[in-house]
Amino acid sequence: MTATRPLNHEWLFAIGLVLLAAVSAASVAAASFSAEQDIAVRVSPAPGAHAAQVTTAGDGIVMSGGHSVLSKARMEFELPPADAEGQRWVVLFHRVMVEEIDIGNAQWHSPTRRFFAPHADEGAIPSVFVFTLPQHWQDAIALDLRVRSGTGGVLRPLVMRESTAIRIEQRIIALAAAVYASLFMLALMMLALFHAAHDRAFLAYFGFALSALLMVAALNGHLYLLPGFRLLAPWRELGAVALTMLFSAAALQILMRYADLRGSSPRAAALGRIACTVLLAIAALALLGLETLRAPLQAASLSGWLAVSFGCIAVAFDAVRRRVAMARPIALLCVLTGIAAVVAELLSQGYVGDFWWTRRGYQVVLVACAAALAIGLAARVSDYRSQRDRARLAHEDSDRRASREAARLALAEGLQARLKLLAAGDLEWTAYRRVLDQLRRMLDLDAAAAAIFGSDSETLLVAEPNERKPQYAQLVARRQNMLKSLARTRAPMQVTLDEPDAPPTGKPVPAIVPLPLHAPAWGVMILERGRGDGFTTDELALASEFGRLAVQAIDEANTSIRLRRSAEMDALTGALNRRTLDQWLSRSFSEAHRYNKELSVLFVDLDNFKAINDTYGHAAGDHCLRRVSGALRGVIGLHDLLGRYGGEEFLVASVDATSDAARQLGERIRAAVENLPVEWSGQTLKLTASVGVASRWPHEHEPNETIERADKALYAAKRTGRNRVSVAPAVFI
Ligand code: GH3
Ligand code: MG
Ligand code: MG
Repeated sequence: MTATRPLNHEWLFAIGLVLLAAVSAASVAAASFSAEQDIAVRVSPAPGAHAAQVTTAGDGIVMSGGHSVLSKARMEFELPPADAEGQRWVVLFHRVMVEEIDIGNAQWHSPTRRFFAPHADEGAIPSVFVFTLPQHWQDAIALDLRVRSGTGGVLRPLVMRESTAIRIEQRIIALAAAVYASLFMLALMMLALFHAAHDRAFLAYFGFALSALLMVAALNGHLYLLPGFRLLAPWRELGAVALTMLFSAAALQILMRYADLRGSSPRAAALGRIACTVLLAIAALALLGLETLRAPLQAASLSGWLAVSFGCIAVAFDAVRRRVAMARPIALLCVLTGIAAVVAELLSQGYVGDFWWTRRGYQVVLVACAAALAIGLAARVSDYRSQRDRARLAHEDSDRRASREAARLALAEGLQARLKLLAAGDLEWTAYRRVLDQLRRMLDLDAAAAAIFGSDSETLLVAEPNERKPQYAQLVARRQNMLKSLARTRAPMQVTLDEPDAPPTGKPVPAIVPLPLHAPAWGVMILERGRGDGFTTDELALASEFGRLAVQAIDEANTSIRLRRSAEMDALTGALNRRTLDQWLSRSFSEAHRYNKELSVLFVDLDNFKAINDTYGHAAGDHCLRRVSGALRGVIGLHDLLGRYGGEEFLVASVDATSDAARQLGERIRAAVENLPVEWSGQTLKLTASVGVASRWPHEHEPNETIERADKALYAAKRTGRNRVSVAPAVFI
């Protein structure tokens, strides 16, 4: 489908419908034809005519079809005395396919009228055969009727005033003109639609409307006057047969295309195509103009269009079943067209009475059917348009989704990379700041904030831009309960945060985007835009997703910090483990050496600890170790290292501590352990510790020797009675 030109087809429909209304109006106006016959005419075989040549039906002459035959009959009627108005009387025949027709008697003879070769004085759209009688005629009149015809049917003479005949003529002309104009307009509409939508169905419809126009014009006898179409006249009835077959094929074609028969039932479509080929073959044969084929071709034409009528009705009902646009009215009109055409055929054979609707009804219904079909087909244009819109939307949607996905990925990666380098305390602030900054750019926000209420009633407020922080702080304080209930919904929404009695600001309502935090913690983002129509569902979803990313990145960063720590910590006591302690000691020693700084090492060993284990059990021993570790942490300085060296031995490295300061620290440690109350199974355990202290000698850039001296000092402390501090001798230079 390549159509991209916008097409306003509604006005085309409007024109079509107006024309349709005109057709209806004209046909209503023509409704009183038959009532206007005022003189009864009796028709009898002409005296001397061969009986086989002429049949009369009381008021008409019955013509045999197939061969060009000259029929003669006598018509008798009684004219009233001439009235004051001097109205003339005429004999009128509906225009049927006779080759020539005339009337006359011994005193007067009419001009000869020909269906296929109208005389110029019959007007542009000749509608009836009218023979004006001499003005002075009155009383009983007998006229001889001569008709040469190749089609079957009944020809009925009507005698009426000239004014009545003129009125009938005008009405028939109005009806015919309306039918032609409607079909022509519909054809043009379809040409326009074909131009816009490049769908061959519209072109097929164009052919259908045009062939309908030609067929109706040929059957009405209006085609043989126009310069180009006089060419058709030599074929006489066979020309009409060819056009009828062409129209039947076109009607079948367009209905099959309209109902997309090929898609729904390929077999039926193949059958339809064969039928079309047969119809076109009959048309071609008719155009050969062979006299011998005249009768069979007329019969073939009759059965051809009857079969097509049934075929069209079947296709239309299939379309109804499949709910194709406009299928119901089209099916109904197909049925009506078929019935009207059959009635018109019966009329021409003399089986039904001559009413306006029996003679012209099929043309009116045909136009209605064509209009409905046009609307049904044009509905396809709406289909194309909505299809195209859907495709474009899907395209835009995927573009937008791709760019958002890219932004999401970039944010996720950015957060991960950034948070990795941060200490636990800076994570949240940094993450929300980044998310708000991104959202502000992507959603064109004026301002945004994130308010997080931690489990320990600690509040974090991040505002973007930062100057808005005081306003947000006020807002959050005032509206905390409302925000909390919104946060619980877990769904972003637009809610005004103004006081209920505040004057309207005219600004769009802010979006509140809950953050998926673990209860009891909760938090929201507040997004504000100064103008526009508020936030779309998409935008809210994006903000939600970004909030989720921030929470997730913070969680992950916290977890990795915890993991990192646990790899460095001794699981039982929370002090540094041996490996980490060694690393830190090495680092501290080389730094102290480089900057020539004091550094002291304290060995702490619990006294007679084995006895605790033996008496109270291993779990009690573990409990003591945890308590001692906590006590040591409370005593040592902020920058001192505390590690579990092994078993029940702790090591403290005190930076910047001179030997004396280290001894004092050792004393504080000893006292802390001694005074540490350790409850176990309702008993209070008493612990003491011995401490060995050693300080770095100036040349030492590694911890080993200092540790060894501290170990020796510890041994000395043990040996001299435990629960005491022993300092390794300092070096004297
Ligand atoms: P001293 O005063 O000479 O140091 O006597 P002590 O019993 O403390 O002797 P030592 O330091 O050689 O004994 C270490 C004991 O500490 C051995 C073991 O039972 C205990 N111990 C070592 N690691 C742990 C531990 O992780 N948990 C518990 N419950 N006990 C431990
Ligand atoms: Mg020990
Ligand atoms: Mg010990």
